[in-house]
Amino acid sequence: MPQPKRIKLETYLDDYCFTPTSRLQKDSDRVWVPDVYCHNGHSLMVHGILFGGHPAVNVRVLVGGEGGQVDDFYLSPIIGDNGKQGPDLPEGTRLLLTCPICKEELRQLVPCTCQVGAYRRAVYLTPDPAELGAIGLCEIYGCPQSFVSEAGELIFEVAVDE
Ligand SMILES: [Zn+2]
Ligand SMILES: [Zn+2]
Repeated sequence: MPQPKRIKLETYLDDYCFTPTSRLQKDSDRVWVPDVYCHNGHSLMVHGILFGGHPAVNVRVLVGGEGGQVDDFYLSPIIGDNGKQGPDLPEGTRLLLTCPICKEELRQLVPCTCQVGAYRRAVYLTPDPAELGAIGLCEIYGCPQSFVSEAGELIFEVAVDE
């Protein structure tokens, strides 16, 4: 049995200004994203699947990359929550992450450290990617490493503690 990975969530929220319209929302103990978009401004929220009462983020994937089987994942919008619905795949499977509406592949943001050549792909906190609010999702199934940035500043990061 492999050791479970130790995950740590870093937060850099001291100066974050939560308002009724901020791109991150907060209740007593959770922070979540109320809406996220592809680089073409399509909302990825799905109201038929909820995590903790909040709509899920729908990302369409091609399993194994270009030409692969098409599947949908529904991700928890709650920061630090690994919850997701979707096919069960072997850990380490590469996924081509795409927008379910325009079918374009999500943009590469930064390399991920989990596999050579792996990237974290972007979903945006506003319909305009130029506003520099983004969530970086790793394209490797089972990799928990992700981050949230806004106005170019890192505000959350989930990393494997090694
Ligand atoms: Zn789109
Ligand atoms: Zn990764």
